[in-house]
Amino acid sequence: MSSAQAIIRGLSDDGGLYVPEGFPQLTLDDIRNLATKTYEERVAVVLRLFLDDFSYDELISFSRQAYGLHNFFIAAAPLYCYSEGTHFLELWRGPTCAFKDMALQLLPHLLTAALQKTGEKREVCILVATSGDTGKAALEGFCDVPGTKIMVFYPRDGVSDVQKLQMTSQQGGNVNVVAVEGNFDDAQTGVKAIFSDLDLRRKLDEKGYFLSSANSINWGRLVPQVAYYVSAYCEMIVAGAVRPGDKLNFCVPTGNFGNILAGYYAQRVGVPVNKLICASNRNDVLTEFIKTGVYDKNREFYTTISPSMDILVSSNLERLLFEISGRDGDTVSRFMSSLSRTGRYEVPFAMRRELERLFAGGCSSEQDTYKTIVDAFKERRYLIDPHTAVAHKVLKDYRADTGDMTPTVVVSTASPFKFCDSVLDALGQESNAEGTQLIDRLAKFTGEVAPKPLANLHSKTPRFTDSVTTSGMKEALERFVFS
Ligand SMILES: *Cc1c(COP(=O)(O)O)cnc(C)c1O
Repeated sequence: MSSAQAIIRGLSDDGGLYVPEGFPQLTLDDIRNLATKTYEERVAVVLRLFLDDFSYDELISFSRQAYGLHNFFIAAAPLYCYSEGTHFLELWRGPTCAFKDMALQLLPHLLTAALQKTGEKREVCILVATSGDTGKAALEGFCDVPGTKIMVFYPRDGVSDVQKLQMTSQQGGNVNVVAVEGNFDDAQTGVKAIFSDLDLRRKLDEKGYFLSSANSINWGRLVPQVAYYVSAYCEMIVAGAVRPGDKLNFCVPTGNFGNILAGYYAQRVGVPVNKLICASNRNDVLTEFIKTGVYDKNREFYTTISPSMDILVSSNLERLLFEISGRDGDTVSRFMSSLSRTGRYEVPFAMRRELERLFAGGCSSEQDTYKTIVDAFKERRYLIDPHTAVAHKVLKDYRADTGDMTPTVVVSTASPFKFCDSVLDALGQESNAEGTQLIDRLAKFTGEVAPKPLANLHSKTPRFTDSVTTSGMKEALERFVFS
């Protein structure tokens, strides 16, 4: 399977996920050299490690189109020094103000080129289940890209006002957005069911379409994410916070395990990583897994102020299981079928040890998340969103528990203006108003400037108002594609 084919198909026919054949290495000299380069150049080098059917020239051209300052505000992935040894990697300066832009601004370039390379003549229909941020980022990335249609399903009551308006006001002739009655897991399960519906796929094929995914299960979304971990290490060198070769920790607010998995891949290609700290909100299924080796989704699902992490089935964990089982596909598929049968699996001791060697896990209560937002603002006048606050809190706990003071990069995944209501609540400000008014209120109170794409939401009206049950998702897709 070539990387172009993997990007086009998204999911393999047996329902499994694509993984790289191996991990090409960046030497310390390579990393030193990358530290002198631009973000766009770093991305092209990292992509080239994995995507060997794309040339460097192609990749640098895509990278410049994706991450240039026409798309990103000030810089694509800057590092903010919070205090000695604690840095925030700000990944929300793109068009939709969440880290999903890092992959989804690039993916359409990779996908269109992949379609050309493989001689695919059919039109691709991108299906997305979103917990809030992926949907808008995918819509922006694929808006009016020739040869593509995109359909986004979001949980009707599981996204913020701002997130909802961002999606429902999307422009473009090839886009559709539909609310699903249920939570993110319901929407994701519905999308998976559509993918495995062979009748539907045949019907689409007859009409000249095929399905692909822009969710983080798509290989083409993971590789661009590896790049910002490499870049973060370079930035830490540039800032003098580590010497080349020194290890650092990454602390990552985690939902579907896509972001932190990219950190693991970065470690595998040669970035000196001590621990990957996996931060969860009240939906702490991953914390328990890392601590006990038991994955058990049979628990209450909570809706929290960090909605993009309200997930009980973290799809990309499957890829990690593959690696820490010594690339044993049979074992992984046993876990996966146990998960869908009983909602639970337990990994053997050797895997658990490997998990503990690489990862630490922790979770933050809603109250602690609010408090962490306030503390960062009081201490440093640094405004963080609830997802990033979850990570910051978990880092503080981790340090208190372990005494590990390795320099750490906290991955900052969204602009605080995307979650104004919760941030205003945290800061003790009135938050009872329309999402767009809250943007102004937060700007006024903090003296920060709201990112333009959010400030401009004022003038937007919803264009998509449909809502379906999970069993109506397939029909909604057919209506969109065939009419
Ligand atoms: C998607 C998202 C996450 C979770 O990332 P995963 O790759 O799903 O683990 C965290 N924070 C924000 C703001 C997000 O949009």
